[in-house]
Amino acid sequence: MSVSSDDIIICGVCDHKNPIFRLKCSECGLRLSKKKHKKMASKKKKALQKSKRKPLGCDGNKIKYTTRRDASKARKNIYSQKGAILRIYKCKICNAYHLTKLRSKK
Ligand SMILES: [Zn+2]
Ligand SMILES: [Zn+2]
Repeated sequence: MSVSSDDIIICGVCDHKNPIFRLKCSECGLRLSKKKHKKMASKKKKALQKSKRKPLGCDGNKIKYTTRRDASKARKNIYSQKGAILRIYKCKICNAYHLTKLRSKK
């Protein structure tokens, strides 16, 4: 039975290779910490990326307009009803047009 690199802990002090079940380095007696899972770290990174703000896209709840003209009509309607100025943008995710509110500058 050969020892693979997954089954050893390399001592941080003397670089002695210890079997993974050892709690202390057999050379210098340093307490060995178990290998940190690299998979966990990448998961965390992914979560961070998820929480990043998306560029203009689609949250699934937006009204889709198949043509820019439709979006323009809807925008005019909303403007006449609510006085809200909306911007038309093309969504890369659903390939349709959406309206988005412009931030009012005050
Ligand atoms: Zn050691
Ligand atoms: Zn969309």
